[in-house]
Amino acid sequence: MTIAALATAPFRAAIGVIRMSGPQAFSIARSVLRYQNGALIEEGQKRNVSFARIVDGDEVIDEAVVCAFRGPHSYTGEDTVEFSCHGGVYLLQRVLRLLFDRGARQAEGGEFTKRAFLNGKSDLTRAEGVMDLIDSQYANAARVAMSELDGTVGRSISEIRDELLGICAKLLAYVDYPDDEIGEVSTDEIAALLDSSIHRVTALCDSYGVGRILRDGVRTALCGRPNVGKSSLMNRMAGTDRSIVTDVAGTTRDTVDACVVFGDVKLNLTDTAGIRETRDPVEQIGVSRARGEMEKAELILCVFAPDCNAEDEDLAEEALQHQGKTIFLFNKSDLAPQKPLPPWADRAPAFRVSAKTAMGMDAVADCVKALFTAQGTSASTVISNGRQYQCLCRVKTALQRARQNLALTPDVIVSDLEQAVAAVGEITGQTVSEQVIHEIFSRFCVGK
Ligand code: GDP
Repeated sequence: MTIAALATAPFRAAIGVIRMSGPQAFSIARSVLRYQNGALIEEGQKRNVSFARIVDGDEVIDEAVVCAFRGPHSYTGEDTVEFSCHGGVYLLQRVLRLLFDRGARQAEGGEFTKRAFLNGKSDLTRAEGVMDLIDSQYANAARVAMSELDGTVGRSISEIRDELLGICAKLLAYVDYPDDEIGEVSTDEIAALLDSSIHRVTALCDSYGVGRILRDGVRTALCGRPNVGKSSLMNRMAGTDRSIVTDVAGTTRDTVDACVVFGDVKLNLTDTAGIRETRDPVEQIGVSRARGEMEKAELILCVFAPDCNAEDEDLAEEALQHQGKTIFLFNKSDLAPQKPLPPWADRAPAFRVSAKTAMGMDAVADCVKALFTAQGTSASTVISNGRQYQCLCRVKTALQRARQNLALTPDVIVSDLEQAVAAVGEITGQTVSEQVIHEIFSRFCVGK
């Protein structure tokens, strides 16, 4: 079946692209195009760009640049035509309707990429890379998506698969010809091979810590006593007035969220209500939420003012108890630039900053960058996609089971390995159910 869809956003724009793919793509296109010079595509030509009028009967609807790709030399692997029309909302709908009248049907979300996958043009990691790249909102997210799209992730996974199949082959040789003693040395050899694969898979699994942060951002809590300048700092980082700034203590009574790219890292900031002893029941709720945010945060930015007191020290102590990394920000330094930091300041990276003048903020950004992007991953490939990570965890579990079963018969180990290979195959799409394929592609946008 030939499918068609708008590939660009449905808004008024300079151009709008309609994409059509399938066995009748060329014949449907020819039925709506009129040429003064040239043709859609010549016999034997792999691809062609032409300029044509789009006509509905005798009426000229638009003029378009038309790219034709002969399968398999196309994104989907099928005959494909892309019309770059003028970007009017009505106009594009009309051209699409015309294509539907001539026999195409509306493409579902991700259907072009799904066809590319089914036609062997792309493995699943690359297809997911397409979606992740479209979804990425800043440089690091785009970078990790690109490593899926360009096949880096897929290649690492294929190498692991080859390794596992190699081990399987050795074990099966023994199962088939048990007289050629596998012996102690061979068991050691299998153990060494398994260890090496486990090491590799573990490194990839661990890289998800960084990958997820690069893609989705760091859950960050801004904590501190009321009035130390948390909201002002957040606004300084966000560059907008996202949070209310006033000089009446306790104004920020609920958690407020903003996403900022700070030090090349996306921070999902929650400006929490100031933590302090209070009898006001509304503020008490805010304070307990602030504590909850600190608990869940991957980064805790503790903000203090020049008049640091014992309450601040308690807060610093509390932040250091949590799992997240902590940074101390001594704000309002413009008011007291020479004031020495309290002795406990050396328990975390500490900076003198000013939300008012931006003083010190670059150093904080560098610190955030060092903490979250340079943080160690021994894998040269970074996994950032949750589905791929889940599959890898299953690979790891199956391999660890194989390692534990080493003393048992080889066919037990082979069975564990086969489960590992199946989970690896799910990542690239070699062994994946219809259901999973449907779920993955239905999250794509229409036209992709
Ligand atoms: P929060 O309660 O911790 O969120 O504090 P706010 O951001 O609402 O700030 C409290 C007051 O401190 C406001 O009047 C801000 O203008 C002021 N303030 C915040 N940061 C600075 C700073 O770096 N320097 C100076 N001089 N004043 C600041």
